[in-house]
Amino acid sequence: MNKALRPAVIAGNWKMNKTPGEAVQLINEIKPLVADAACTVIACVPFVDLQVVLGAAADSNIRIGAQNCHFEDHGAFTGEISPAMLTAMGVNVVIVGHSERRTYFGDTDETVAKRLTAAVNAGMTGILCVGEYLEQRQQGITDELVAMQVKIALKEIKPEQLGQVIIAYEPVWAIGTGLTATAEQANQVCGVIRATVAGLYGQAAADHMTIQYGGSMNAGNAAELLAMEHVDGGLIGGASLKPNDFAAIVAAASK
Ligand code: PEP
Repeated sequence: MNKALRPAVIAGNWKMNKTPGEAVQLINEIKPLVADAACTVIACVPFVDLQVVLGAAADSNIRIGAQNCHFEDHGAFTGEISPAMLTAMGVNVVIVGHSERRTYFGDTDETVAKRLTAAVNAGMTGILCVGEYLEQRQQGITDELVAMQVKIALKEIKPEQLGQVIIAYEPVWAIGTGLTATAEQANQVCGVIRATVAGLYGQAAADHMTIQYGGSMNAGNAAELLAMEHVDGGLIGGASLKPNDFAAIVAAASK
């Protein structure tokens, strides 16, 4: 199965949780539990935690990422953080287009594309989030919508940069709600994403692309989701704050 061609990646999204002191404590609890992982492990932490968590994770197999970035290097963008600032700190992974950024902070497909392009051009790996609202699923437009989100986000990404992109399929109705897409639903939409990437860059590129599922993935449902052909990893919110649960998901992805 082509699944063997792509690295499994489990990324925690800590969202707006943990002060720097609490963040160090959490990463120190997670470190020994995932030390034997046979997959890539990432923790995306709040900006203010990056420095201390990078230090605490330096002797571990955990990559540290940010949860957003701006598309300019510097300038009059109050409150924003640029890819250049992140890479200068040693942060090489960033989430872009999370549904909470789209829903609460005005991110659009166009700004997500700009953020992803800026991150990738700065040498970072971008975790691009796409996914539908419940009403859109009920309308039967999930596949077209997700394909469009992917196409817009990737429009400036060159073929040789595709290895710096991970796509996370995150149905908005499943994020933080305890509702999880069934393994079949997750696989079906991740398959649509892979076919979309194949249409843009060719089948070989699509076969090598890591596509994650995110949306209430937990210790109990991870193995079934991760066993699906097109699900190569997970973007984990709530469970990433619980060391044993996060480690169980990492273990499921390591099989
Ligand atoms: C997320 O924040 O990307 C996410 C999937 O959250 P949760 O796992 O809590 O649903």
